[in-house]
Amino acid sequence: MSFPVYLIGARGCGKTTVGKLLACQLSYYFCDTDQQLQQQLEQSIADYVAQHGWGNFRQQEHQALLTVSSDSTVVATGGGIILRDDNRQHMREAGTVIWLSVDPHVLVNRLTADPEIGQRPTLTGKPITEEIFDVLQKRLPLYQQAAHHTIDANQPPEKIVIDILTVLSRDSL
Ligand code: ADP
Ligand code: MG
Repeated sequence: MSFPVYLIGARGCGKTTVGKLLACQLSYYFCDTDQQLQQQLEQSIADYVAQHGWGNFRQQEHQALLTVSSDSTVVATGGGIILRDDNRQHMREAGTVIWLSVDPHVLVNRLTADPEIGQRPTLTGKPITEEIFDVLQKRLPLYQQAAHHTIDANQPPEKIVIDILTVLSRDSL
């Protein structure tokens, strides 16, 4: 049985980029909870939150997590998935949880360099650079709690994948 591998971490830490490469290496499927959410909501996340609020959004996100949790799947999660206890518990019980840990300054550089991400609405309305530091500080303990393994994700994607494969192969010994 090949349990799901969940990638967690802040927006821009590379969950989608690394997740696709990792899935390819493992011959697993790749799923992104944010993409699943877009399909589920049939509107943009920003529009949904504006109309229905963050509480309803987090409930939809929880449902999206359950929907994509299949065997032989690498799941790239949304940055806030770790906020709910039931999400953390579900991921830890259903599979292996990998935290892609990135220095906040590196995150800021990546996000400001990526025009698509630069246009994404921020969570708080503050400039993205300020928001990253505030949000990370609150979420760090939750990423730590949720993760089975922490990977240094300041490195190139290919090296991150090698490090993940190494911890996964140790787990299966
Ligand atoms: P997430 O899914 O965690 O929000 P993405 O995979 O979308 O993050 O990556 C955010 C941005 O950072 C993209 O522009 C991507 O090309 C870039 N990126 C991702 N991982 C790395 C990495 N390890 N090194 C350099 N740039 C990266
Ligand atoms: Mg992503």
